[in-house]
Amino acid sequence: KYDVLIVGGGPAGAAAAIYAARKGIRTGVVAERFGGQVLDTMAIENFISVQETDGPKLAMALEQHVKSYDVDIMNLQRASALRHSDNGIELELANGAVLKSKSVIISTGARWREMNVPGETEYRNKGVAYCPHCDGPLFKGKRVAVIGGGNSGVEAAIDLAGLVSHVTLIEFDSALRADAILQKKLFSLPNVTVIKSALTKEVLGDGSKVSALKYEDRTTNEMHTIELEGIFVQIGLLPNTEWLKGTIDLSPRGEIMVDPKGETSVPGVFAAGDCSTAPYKQIIIAMGEGAKTALSAFDFLIRS
Ligand code: FAD
Repeated sequence: KYDVLIVGGGPAGAAAAIYAARKGIRTGVVAERFGGQVLDTMAIENFISVQETDGPKLAMALEQHVKSYDVDIMNLQRASALRHSDNGIELELANGAVLKSKSVIISTGARWREMNVPGETEYRNKGVAYCPHCDGPLFKGKRVAVIGGGNSGVEAAIDLAGLVSHVTLIEFDSALRADAILQKKLFSLPNVTVIKSALTKEVLGDGSKVSALKYEDRTTNEMHTIELEGIFVQIGLLPNTEWLKGTIDLSPRGEIMVDPKGETSVPGVFAAGDCSTAPYKQIIIAMGEGAKTALSAFDFLIRS
């Protein structure tokens, strides 16, 4: 039986594992893909104290750091259910195995909702981006589009307008869904164009980077092409929490509800990083949340 079992091997899970192991308690990590979203990232320039790194390098460093402690890493294993009773917590894996633990930290992260149009995957990290905080500065002085007129899309457009030469915001619906105050700010900016009732059709490029975006005007069915260098897709971040529905309280967006200590609605179960309601989805924030929940789990263990 583990003292702390961590589900997820991204920045949050790695930080939780190191903090737990350093308390000398029995620690395990179950991860579908150790490294998490970091593996899909190219340039990382906001991981404080490291001016520049890339995803595979940081993922490797995370794994080495965790492996330097006495931690059971169960990689390529997916958790499929969680059960709790007075005897502790059981984690069921997709392969049928059941692991037992006194406490659990969930750090299963999230995934960006994709447009699912031709060119999107091909030009991912070559102009197609999902995180304005991460990749905005790479498009300084260039032309970009933001796909999605909800709060995150409009926030991204406002943020990017201060960095890039021009932003085109594309919304599928006939109206933006963002808060009125954000829309007011957006429409006050001189270098932003808003296009509504537009369906993104294709990402175009020269083979190595994005050159344009094709969309259909849904009112006339006419096709249009916008020349640009970058496309920020802001149509939703989906937390990897489907397997917890009905077991742990989730927000309407599917994020695991946590208190300031990372505690969930189930005693002894904590959550950290992109899968939780903790705001701002970033590597350094996920690591901080992971460290914090390991300390919270330790606190829980010494009191029970
Ligand atoms: P993740 O990194 O998502 O890790 C989740 C872990 O859980 C993975 O190991 C996954 O395999 C595992 N998992 C999921 N479901 C299960 C399950 N059921 N059972 C077992 N394991 C499971 N942030 C920055 O700070 N700077 C950047 O430059 C930056 N660039 C980015 C670029 C891209 C393309 C993307 C996609 C993200 C970027 N981010 C960046 C965001 C950053 O990667 C995330 O905020 C961070 O990785 C979140 O860490 P996490 O540990 O919470 O989750």
